Formats: sequence, structure tokens, C-alpha cells
Amino acid sequence: MEAQIPAPIGLLAELTHRCPLGCPYCSNPLALDGREGELATAEWKRVLNEAAALGVLQVHLSGGEPLARRDLVEIVSHCAGLGLYTNLITSGIGMNARLARALADAGLDHVQLSIQDADAASADKIAGYNGAFAKKREVAALITAEGFPLTVNAVIHHANAARAGAMVRLALALGARRVEIAHVQYYGWAVPNRAQLMPTRAEAEAAVTEVEELKRELAGQIVIDHVIPDYHARYPKACMGGWGRRTLNITPLGKALPCHAADTIPHLAFWNVRDKSLAEIWQQSPAFAAYRGTAWMNETCRTCERREIDHGGCRCQALALAGDAAATDPVCYKSPLHGRLVEIMALEAGRAEAPYHYRRVPARAPV
Ligand code: SF4
Ligand code: SF4
Repeated sequence: MEAQIPAPIGLLAELTHRCPLGCPYCSNPLALDGREGELATAEWKRVLNEAAALGVLQVHLSGGEPLARRDLVEIVSHCAGLGLYTNLITSGIGMNARLARALADAGLDHVQLSIQDADAASADKIAGYNGAFAKKREVAALITAEGFPLTVNAVIHHANAARAGAMVRLALALGARRVEIAHVQYYGWAVPNRAQLMPTRAEAEAAVTEVEELKRELAGQIVIDHVIPDYHARYPKACMGGWGRRTLNITPLGKALPCHAADTIPHLAFWNVRDKSLAEIWQQSPAFAAYRGTAWMNETCRTCERREIDHGGCRCQALALAGDAAATDPVCYKSPLHGRLVEIMALEAGRAEAPYHYRRVPARAPV
């Protein structure tokens, strides 16, 4: 039975939670892992060996800011040696020409660069870092000069929704081949910042319309991956392609999670790569088995024609809003709690006057 569980395709390696930026929607947990206790280089190499043996094809090196790890080039080189497609997800802060060249020489395949807004002052305010916008322009030039395919990531919320289209055009100007426009997901740091981040329905709909129009206008110039706003949707998204189906996350301290917010589900015990092999975790861990397939679903989801499409939505959102991780995601219009969600939206949307709660954890400059 265990042998029939398909191998994961992707592994998200959260190399560190350290990051110079403080984005108020960061998906990292409120209790950030400090530098103390982060997996060492040799431990990451062992995990990557196990990932490749398990069948993982793509590794996403993320954080926090992965450039804060002094061993990043060594880790990239190890991934390349294993034949893994290696993607760096970065804020760009800490990148320089020497490091970009070293990453290219080590075999890095792809870079995803985050932007916070198309307006410099607003971008720096959202990031909580003066000069972030200007630095990202420089970094995009370094990345494309090294020949890396570049994807730009942008998160849409109340403060920048009016510039959703401008961010797509900025990504194109920066030399990106692809741009990911995603509306805020309300977990991690986005929960205490929800009132500041929540767009009004009109703002969200205008942003969606603008981006969809650009998809047609810019077809052939840039690929636009558009993730529509969760709270305004009729159905939930297929979170991570389904729990324990396609990907897994490893936290800086070695905890293996089915998604980056899974640790918010208190009754699940997540095994650590320091104690178990990745294959054991994927195939035998009760936490990965908890919401795999459809047996755990309630009647509403189990009998629904979309159960193999969205897998009942997000477990972490179900817990946060319904108090039950096995509930139908309240984003779904079939959920009895969908009305509660509409209330939250109406109460909180557009209240941007309050200052953000910025996340902060010390970051070290890379060598
Ligand atoms: S603070 Fe911003 S740049 Fe840093 S990890 Fe979080 S979302 Fe990414
Ligand atoms: S009822 Fe469940 S499976 Fe059906 S659309 Fe809603 S969340 Fe998805």
C-alpha cells in the first residue's frame, strides 16, 4: 500500500527564515526559526540525495532569503550533480555579480525574483526596506545577464491592487519570461495583517480583469500565471495540488511539511529529516497520510464532483476559519461557513490605515 503512493515531484527547501525584508504577507510562520539549529550543509546534501532517490525532479531553494546562506552555491552545485532542476526563489537582496556568476557556474537552472509593487515608494514600504525596489532592478539585470530564465513573483493586496497590470509590465521590462500574479493567501504573517491587506471586492475584481486582459495582449511576450483571490472565489484552489500528493516542504530546522502552513495544524506531528529518511516521511508519516486522498473528507466534499480537482481546498484555511482542518474550505460556496468569510471580507476590506506588522529575523550578508 505504501509503495503505491506516487513520488513527490517537487521539494521546497526553506534554507533559512532569515530575510532582510519584512513583507506583511510572508508565508513563514509567526514563530520564525532562528539561525541556531538550521540544517547544516551536509544535512541538506543528505536530504537532497534522498529526494532524488525518491523521485523528486525539481528543488525550489527558498526561505526567508536563501541568499543569506553562505553555502548556497555548494547546495546548488549538489542539486545539479544529482540532476535536479534547481530553482532559486529570492527577494534579490544580497545578490551581486560575483554570486550570480557562481550560481550559474554551479548549475542553477532558474530564478524567481519577488517584487512588491510597481511604484518604488510603495514597494519599499511593503517590503519594510528602503531601496529594495531599486536593488531588484539591478538584480534582475544580473540574473538575465547570466542567462537564467527569470520569473517575477508579485503578491496582490489592498496597497498594490491598482497596479496589478503595472507589475506585469514591470516584469516584462525586467526581462522575465514568466510572471506569477497571486493574491494574498491568509496564513503566516498575512493573518495578523489581514485587515491591512484585504482588498475590497471592487479592487480585487479590477485587478483580475486587468491581468486577464494583459494575458491576451502580451501573449507570446510573457507567460502570466494568475492565481485569483481566494476569498472572492466560488471554489477553493487545489492547495499544493492536494495534500501529500506532489510536493513537500522542509523547514530550516528540518521539519517535513505537506505545505508551508501545515505546522499551524496543532494535532499533527511532523517528522523531522534529522530523525527519518525522506522516503519514510513521504510514505509512512501519519501527518502526510492525514489528508491524502478522499477518505478523510466530510460528506459535502466526498460526494462533490470537484473532490479530485481541488481536493477540498486548503486544510490550514479550514482550520483557521472553521476550527476543523477536515472541514470543507470555507472559501467554497458549499461550506456552511462561507457566509462567515463574506462577513470577514466586508469588515476588513480596504482598512489600510493601520501600520503593517513586519516580520523581522536577522539576516547575514552572503560571502
Ligand atoms: S519577507 Fe518577503 S522576501 Fe522575505 S521571505 Fe518573506 S515574503 Fe519573501
Ligand atoms: S465541496 Fe469540497 S470538493 Fe467540492 S468544491 Fe467545495 S471544497 Fe471542493
